[in-house]
Order: sequence, then structure tokens, then C-alpha cells
Amino acid sequence: MKDDPAMKIQDYWVFGEYGGVNPSIEDASTFTFLSAEKMQELFEHEVEGCFLYSRHLNPTVHYLAQSMALLEGTEYAQITASGMAAISCAILQICSSGDEIISSRTIYGGTYALLKNYLPKFDINTTFVNILDLDAVKSKITPKTKIIYTESISNPLLEVANIPELSKIAKENNLTLIVDNTFSPMILQPHKLGADIVVHSLTKFINGASDCVGGAICATHDFVTSLKDVHNGSAMLLGPTMDSIRAAGILKNLRTLHIRMKQHSHNAMFIATKLKELGFRVFYPGLEIHPQHELMKRLMNRDYGFGGMVTFDCKTPEKANELMLKMQENKVGYFAVSLGFYKTLFSAPGLSTSSEIPPEEQQQIGLSPGLVRMSIGLDNDIEITWERMLKSIKEVGLA
Ligand SMILES: *Cc1c(COP(=O)(O)O)cnc(C)c1O
Repeated sequence: MKDDPAMKIQDYWVFGEYGGVNPSIEDASTFTFLSAEKMQELFEHEVEGCFLYSRHLNPTVHYLAQSMALLEGTEYAQITASGMAAISCAILQICSSGDEIISSRTIYGGTYALLKNYLPKFDINTTFVNILDLDAVKSKITPKTKIIYTESISNPLLEVANIPELSKIAKENNLTLIVDNTFSPMILQPHKLGADIVVHSLTKFINGASDCVGGAICATHDFVTSLKDVHNGSAMLLGPTMDSIRAAGILKNLRTLHIRMKQHSHNAMFIATKLKELGFRVFYPGLEIHPQHELMKRLMNRDYGFGGMVTFDCKTPEKANELMLKMQENKVGYFAVSLGFYKTLFSAPGLSTSSEIPPEEQQQIGLSPGLVRMSIGLDNDIEITWERMLKSIKEVGLA
């Protein structure tokens, strides 16, 4: 526990202007200077404790960045206005036209669309692989490859990436390993397992209130500084800046993340076990039948469980939709995309968050059209929730 991320975040003290227990919100886009030299210096490089303009860096946003770096064990972090901004800025800082990316084929739909449809406009091309097949990853490396991209726990099939082995491959070939850790904050710390850059959608578990969108890039001090560079930084020049008032809110929520992750994981384990007992095909890394269960146990911080996401198969999209509407009616949770909320959220990935992936490819990667992805909530008594879920399953004839 000496390296516990929750403890690191608790030990990071920042006071408000008058000793407030929360940092003051720096409600300003620009900052005054008392000398021309200082202003010029700040255009050239970062100066500790000095701020220039809030698209570059704002003190309140800086506190959130420091906390995200502590969460992931990296030197520093860049906060962005969304998870997609974090992903696109990190990639565009590394890749130039002509470069190539090797990516897991089971990734968030938005990331898939960015890599598949958008980046080829700039002649940045991606080869999609089964990220569990390390030989396939190696075989796709060319002299133009710059990045290996994966999610630590994939969306929506919850496959666990072998980050230490991917890191070896990346290091041997001088590539940057980028890991999206949105599904497993605190549970997995990809940087400690060898990832060079960890990206997050703060929108999900980290903020946990489903009231805003945000992102983070956790990396070395040098890489984060390059993102902010006034002449050449993707975050500085594309400008996906987070507002200071929003950053203060997310920082406050981040401080209870450890308690929430434990409860999400506890409840998810319960629901996954019950669904499996009922005969459903269930995807949950905490179940012994999960193909990467042992790997997950080796990589994870045991205190926080196996995560809050559970996916199961209702065979057809019609049944999946019928069940989700019934579960909403019976107060299991909300029929909505996204994750990490206090209420259980459910959606059918094939028709929503993974719909960017064409149907043929969905089939190839094992994305059954009847999948239901659940982000299990913080329910105090998960047995009551399960009773409601079971009632819904029976009412639509799935049991
Ligand atoms: C939601 C999500 C994103 C995108 O984040 P936004 O904050 O919506 O831009 C990226 N990766 C994963 C795994 C996600 O779940």
C-alpha cells in the first residue's frame, strides 16, 4: 500500500487564498506581469508559479493536473476539455504525416473513428490488431510506426491488455505506448506497468457525477511541456482547454474516487456472478471464466476490485433493447451511454458507443449485436437491484 494512489492524492495539500481547505478558483483567462522580461521568459519556457494565459495553464487546472499525475504515477499531466481531446492531442503531438499507429481493434467508438476515418486525412494511418495477440502486434510494426495504442480494459468486451509485454515491444522498437485507462482508474496504473502515456476521459469514473466532460494526458514533464508549447503544442494550438471552475469541481470529486471504485467493483462482481449463474455469456475480469482473469490479478491494485463494468449477451439487439427499457421501468438504472455514475447505466454497444465500427468488423472482433454494457452504480444494497434486474429479465422472457 505504500504506493497507493488514493493516499498520494490525499497527501497533496493545496489551500485556498485564505487557508481554505479547497484551492481557490482562479477565475481568470489572463495574468498580470510586473516585468517585461518575465513575460518574455514565460513565452520561452515554463516558470514555476507563473501563469500567462489560461489556454496555456491556469492554477486551478494545474492542481487537477498534479492530482491526475499522482493518480497515474507520472511526472505531470495535461488536462483537456474531453477524453477525445486528450487522445487526439497526444497522438497529434507524436505523429506527423506519413507515420503509422498500431491500435487495438476493440476501443472506444470515437477513438476508432478518429484513427480509422479522420487521421488518414493527414496521412496518419492505423493498423488494427487483436491486442491480446502479441505476435500480431510485432508483425505489424514498420519503419513508419510511432505508436502502439490500447485501452487497459477494452470497450465493451472488457479484455485486459498485457501492458508489461506491450511495453517491452514498444521499447524494443522505439515506439510510444499509449494506454487509455478510463475503465480502470486506481485499479490499474498503466504507467507503472510500462506505458509511456496514459490518457483518460475524466467524464466517467474520475468525475463520477455525469455533469461534465473532461480529459487528461498523464506523461513525462517533457511531453506535457511539449503539448503546451506556444509554437508547436497540440493542446496549446488546437485549444481544448478546461475551464477553472470545472477543474475545481472535478478535483473535489477525484478525492472520493477510491471509495467509489471499491463500491462499483463490489456491486459489479455481484451482478456479474448472478448473470453467469443464470446462464448468460458474461464478460467481467473478476470472473474466473474471463480469459485474462489471472493476468488482471497480476496487474491490478487489489484494493479496488475488478472494476464497475459488466457486459453480457442477450443474443439479439431486439431482446437487448427490450430488456434495457424494462430495466429502466423497474428502476435498475438508466438507459444511457457513458459510465461511472452513481446510478447503473446501460446501453447496447453495437448500436451506440461502438456503432462507429462497421457491422462486419463488429462480428469479427466478437461484438455480438445483442450485447448490453452496464456501468454498475453505487447502490447500497445490490441484492435489491439484482431482484429488480432478475424481474426484468424474466418479464422479457430471457430467463
Ligand atoms: C468516453 C470515453 C472516451 C472519450 O471521452 P470523452 O470525455 O467523451 O471525450 C475515450 N475512451 C473511453 C474508454 C471512453 O469510455
